[in-house]
Amino acid sequence: MIPVSPRNGGRVDLSVVIPAYNEADSIRRVVARLCEVASQAAETYEIVVVDDGSSDDTNEVVKSIARANDSVVALRSSVNRGKGSAVRLASQFVRGDAVVVIDGDMEIDPSSLKEYVAILNRFDICIASKRHPQSSYHAPIMRKFLSVSFNKVVRLTTGIKLADSQTGFKAMRGEHFRRILNVISVKRYAYDVEILAVAQLLGLKVAESPVRIAQTSQFSKKAIMYMFVDLLGIVYRLRVLRWYQRNLANPKLEYKPVIPI
Ligand code: UDP
Ligand code: MG
Repeated sequence: MIPVSPRNGGRVDLSVVIPAYNEADSIRRVVARLCEVASQAAETYEIVVVDDGSSDDTNEVVKSIARANDSVVALRSSVNRGKGSAVRLASQFVRGDAVVVIDGDMEIDPSSLKEYVAILNRFDICIASKRHPQSSYHAPIMRKFLSVSFNKVVRLTTGIKLADSQTGFKAMRGEHFRRILNVISVKRYAYDVEILAVAQLLGLKVAESPVRIAQTSQFSKKAIMYMFVDLLGIVYRLRVLRWYQRNLANPKLEYKPVIPI
C-alpha cells in the first residue's frame, strides 16, 4: 500500500472516504460534489480518495485534484485488493470526528450527507438503506432480487437486523470507524456486513436513512459467488472462532483465511 500524500496530524470535523477503482471518468465530479456537501456539513473536513490499484488514470486525476485542493488527500494501493481493503487503508489516515464512506461512481446521491452527519449526534452509525420507505432505488430487476435475497441470508446467519447492509454510503463516529476497521478482514465483497457485525458486537446504535441510488450494472456470477463465500467466512469467524470478539479485546491477532481471496 502506498500512501501518496497523506496529511497526518491534527483533526477535522469530517473525513469523507471515497474508495475508487477505475473511476477516472467520474472521480473529478464526485470529489467536487463531495467538497460542496462536506463544506455544508462541517467547518473543517478532508476528502480522502483511495485509488484501489486502478489500471486507468484514476491515480493521476486524484493526485492532480489533491495538488490543487488542500482538503483532498490522495491515497493509493499499488494493487487492486477490493473496496474493503481500500477503506481499511484510509482508516489509518483519516482524522475526522465523523467519517463518511461513499462510493466514487456517481450512483449514490450525496445530498443527504449533512443529515447523516447530524444523525451521529444521536446514533453511532448512520447507514443508507435502499429499503427505507423514503428511498429512491433504481436498479436492474435481477440485481434488486439478489440484493433482497442476500439481505435475508445476512439477517439469518449474522443476526444483523438491518434491511440493507450493502449500500455504499455510511457515516460513523470517527472513533468507532477506526476501531471497527482495525478488525476487518474482508477485502472485497461483503466487507459492509463485517462492519455491521462488529458494530453489533460493540453494541453500537445504527440508524437507517433514506438514500437516492441509481445502479445500472449487473453483478457478475463471480461477484455473487464470492459475496456468499465472504459471508460464510464472516459467520465462521463470528460464530465459530469468535475471532472478532477476541480481536476487539486484543487487537494483535492475525487472521489466516481458510480460502485466501
Ligand atoms: N471499488 C474499489 N475496489 C474494487 C472495486 C470497487 O475501491 O476492487 C470501489 C468503486 O470504485 C466504487 C465502490 O468501490 O467507488 C463500489 O464499487 P462498485 O460500484 O463496483 O460496487 P456496487 O455499486 O456494484 O456494489
Ligand atoms: Mg456502484
